[in-house]
Amino acid sequence: MATTVVGRNKGPSDNDDADNLFISKKKMPGVSQGEDPAAALAHARHEFGEHGGVNMSIEASATFTVMEPETMSRMFAGELGPDRDFFIYSRHFNPTVLNLSRQMAALEGTEAAYCTSSGMSAIASVLLQLCVHGGHVVASRTLYGGTHALLSHFLPRVCGITTSFVDIEDFGAVNDAIVEGKTNLVYFESMSNPTLMVANTPELSRIAHAKGVTVVVDNTFSPMVLSPARLGADVVVHSISKFISGGADIIAGAVCGPAKLVNSMMDLQQGSLMLLGPTMNAKVAFELAERLPHLGLRMKEHCHRAMAYATRMKKLGLKVIYPGLEAHPQHILIKSLGNKEYGYGGLLCLDMETEEKANKLMNLLQNVTQFGLMAVSLGYYETLMSCSGSSTSSEMNLEERALAGISPGLVRMSIGYNGTLEQRWSQFEKALSRMGLIK
Ligand SMILES: *Cc1c(COP(=O)(O)O)cnc(C)c1O
Repeated sequence: MATTVVGRNKGPSDNDDADNLFISKKKMPGVSQGEDPAAALAHARHEFGEHGGVNMSIEASATFTVMEPETMSRMFAGELGPDRDFFIYSRHFNPTVLNLSRQMAALEGTEAAYCTSSGMSAIASVLLQLCVHGGHVVASRTLYGGTHALLSHFLPRVCGITTSFVDIEDFGAVNDAIVEGKTNLVYFESMSNPTLMVANTPELSRIAHAKGVTVVVDNTFSPMVLSPARLGADVVVHSISKFISGGADIIAGAVCGPAKLVNSMMDLQQGSLMLLGPTMNAKVAFELAERLPHLGLRMKEHCHRAMAYATRMKKLGLKVIYPGLEAHPQHILIKSLGNKEYGYGGLLCLDMETEEKANKLMNLLQNVTQFGLMAVSLGYYETLMSCSGSSTSSEMNLEERALAGISPGLVRMSIGYNGTLEQRWSQFEKALSRMGLIK
């Protein structure tokens, strides 16, 4: 087998058999489908460095050499692949990107995964792979603005793929919108942006599967907290740029799903990842692979603080939206679907009613009391705040925003964990008292 000159993994060989190189989900005794995502991550194959380093070596090569000329044609014919440590070119599989992808598959409990250069490229690639020309998507009407624009403007214009946007809490409407033989997939977010509506993934998957339709879920808002594939979804997409990166310094994405899908996306003739080429750089993949082991710890602290602040904000009489509060419409649902001990997510929304009030508060919080930063995105160690209606959801028109429940004064906060909880809370209270909202 060792016919290429690429470095060999020198680590402990308990999980070293060739079949496990690509497929991360192993049937291990005592490991169930409802497995904790951190436990699943620890079960994933650990790649060691070429010289025995505790961290893997970065395979920075764009291209790979072979020992015999015949090997090349066998690789292109699909006979020899990454599952046996044969690599062709890094727009196709790259060992370092594959290592991160294996971690992502373990995190989400899918058979396989592959990482991409952004969350949007992961979403666009999987939609283009699963849909046919003139195809149909049933999607939640509460979606990330970019995804909403892709479905409502770009895909209909370019390839005649149309989308029916539905309220995914209305199961009857979802069922009616799925046209057997025409609908290619059902698409929603496990925790929606920015209203923090929690999707009933088991029920939505059941409805879609009854009509033979694939379910794709964006889990960007709730890694570790929710595991859509363990709840019945077929494919999970991520913007790794958010919580998974945690550093607000990298744009990246992933598609987690069946090995058949991931392989089809890499097909030399038909694969959206191979042919459109939203490739992740191996050096970026290495950096991200070093951050996944502490994702669980970070999520717990994001969630702990978001819960504490949401509870205190509510006590002060503010209009706060947070799935951990009993008043949240899906509080009971997330309690039953969520992975234990991770909490209810790292984001909360504060409805200030008008954009003017929202802006005044954010200005005080950033420029006077230093509670957080006015910025889009989420999952950073600092608190990030944005007014959704005039920023990340501005691609939607007024009516669409009203239907999605986005008030003009909705301030989305991604709660950070640096500084102490009490220090940060006093900064928040100081801004409120400056606004005359508390004494
Ligand atoms: C940010 C985001 C995306 C897009 O990801 P990029 O990495 O910015 O391309 C998709 N979905 C959700 C829910 C997001 O928050």
